[in-house]
Amino acid sequence: MRFLSIAALAALAAAPTAGATVNVMTATEDLADLTRQVGGDRVKVESIARGYQDPHFVEAKPSFILKLAKADLLVVIGRELEIGWLPPLIQQSRNAKIQVGGDGYLDASLTVKILEIPTGQITRAMGDVHPLGNPHYWLDPGNGRRIAKAIADKVSQMAPADAAYFASRYADFDKRLAEAEKRWDATMAPYKGLKVVTYHRSWPNFVDRFGLDVIGYVEPRPGIPPSPGHTIDLIGEMKRQNVRILMVEPYFDLKTPQSIGRETGAKVVVLPPSVGGEKEITDYISLFDYDLNLLVAAIKETGAK
Ligand SMILES: [Zn+2]
Repeated sequence: MRFLSIAALAALAAAPTAGATVNVMTATEDLADLTRQVGGDRVKVESIARGYQDPHFVEAKPSFILKLAKADLLVVIGRELEIGWLPPLIQQSRNAKIQVGGDGYLDASLTVKILEIPTGQITRAMGDVHPLGNPHYWLDPGNGRRIAKAIADKVSQMAPADAAYFASRYADFDKRLAEAEKRWDATMAPYKGLKVVTYHRSWPNFVDRFGLDVIGYVEPRPGIPPSPGHTIDLIGEMKRQNVRILMVEPYFDLKTPQSIGRETGAKVVVLPPSVGGEKEITDYISLFDYDLNLLVAAIKETGAK
């Protein structure tokens, strides 16, 4: 009988086998769903942020430290979206794999289309929260596809025996997303160039993809709360340009948006920007179905064009 050395046994134990489960943590629920889409039953995945929370400001619950300690892979939005809450959790997990730059750290922003990359010197006066370009990039389905591909590639590296399974899951997601995009494009086709205002700069990729035109923001700068002077200017601009739609993320106070709505006749539409933002929004594709339906209903109601 041949005995294996301890090193050989350890290597065997560590070798990925078909049906292996990759233990994944994600910063947001959008990333968790995209991981599930490509990972199927070969991944275990949990998000730290909930879809109804402002992703810039998430409570760093210590319970996540233990979960991060056991993770094989951490997927983040990046571009400093999570800078206020994720770094201490990563550090305290003491898990070398998921530290920034580790094999188990995937920054989803590296392979997507990023808008609003600042040029010139960045100062605090430009706002608090988008210093490296707009981090709300998952709201373009083209970027959703790119994120899913990056995750599929990563989990395939980590569990090579399951690579064919992940590739086939990705191909299926890609196909379903392409079908949904045809539906969404048809829904939005009549409203090309429609002028809207949004609370936070959460939607540049979304409006770019669906042909809307954002003419202003309730926040004077990203992450800076509304000020009376800015609100008055915004109301004037909305009246001049006959803007009838004001998109607000669910975690902002509705008081200022509602007063802007009263002054201008614009309809305040509360649009969740993430999976889990409403109970009907159970996955990445239903996020767009939900938001586009709500948006089109509001456009029709106000007669905006
Ligand atoms: Zn933001």
